Amino acid sequence: MQKYEEEDYLAISGFQHFMFCRRQWALIHIENQWEDNWRTTDGEIMHKRAHDNTVAEKRSDIITVNGLKISSKELGISGECDSVQFFRDKGGVYLAKYKGTFLPYPVEYKRGKGQSLEADTMQLCAQAICLEEMLCCKIEKGALFYGEPHRRTEIVFTDELKERVKQTAKEMHEYYDRKTTPKAIYGKPCAACSLKELCLPKLGKPKKSVGEYLRSGLDE
Ligand code: SF4
Repeated sequence: MQKYEEEDYLAISGFQHFMFCRRQWALIHIENQWEDNWRTTDGEIMHKRAHDNTVAEKRSDIITVNGLKISSKELGISGECDSVQFFRDKGGVYLAKYKGTFLPYPVEYKRGKGQSLEADTMQLCAQAICLEEMLCCKIEKGALFYGEPHRRTEIVFTDELKERVKQTAKEMHEYYDRKTTPKAIYGKPCAACSLKELCLPKLGKPKKSVGEYLRSGLDE
């Protein structure tokens, strides 16, 4: 099994971009281009709220930790969990300062109605793989919390899903190592893309309309 060095880690948040569009991911994570639109800005506000409490909070048998830093040598990724709930469980792991054993349950906060459930699921599962590696345990479930309709969707981390996440992380590293930005292919996601203004001029569209082009030719 390949083990990545810390300096080669890629951002976990990149899973979302990569699943949305390989080119968008490369523009952000390889070329460092970024442009806010209402989708990303609104999403960041929700994340900020989730990360406002970075201390652990214990209620009954559940410990909640927000903004937990995570990473995986196997996937070569790092980032933060919005929230991790630790449920008391006999098959769980010991946590410093607490009696008994607990199993982690990652929760990721998202704006909107969950239009990118597949990408969100991959990102959440990547977090679970990080937590498994860091805490030496097996995590079977987590949850996505959508701003609308303001409720949780539970996600089961099957072996198949974990394998997909591993393959996707490998693909991301391959693109990153080659420093390759895929060509733009205009499709449905482009309308909602935060980078369309940066990307679309590179889609191969003519800079002038056909009419402008002909007119400039007549003027010369
Ligand atoms: S505009 Fe379209 S092709 Fe370009 S990065 Fe966005 S989704 Fe990808």
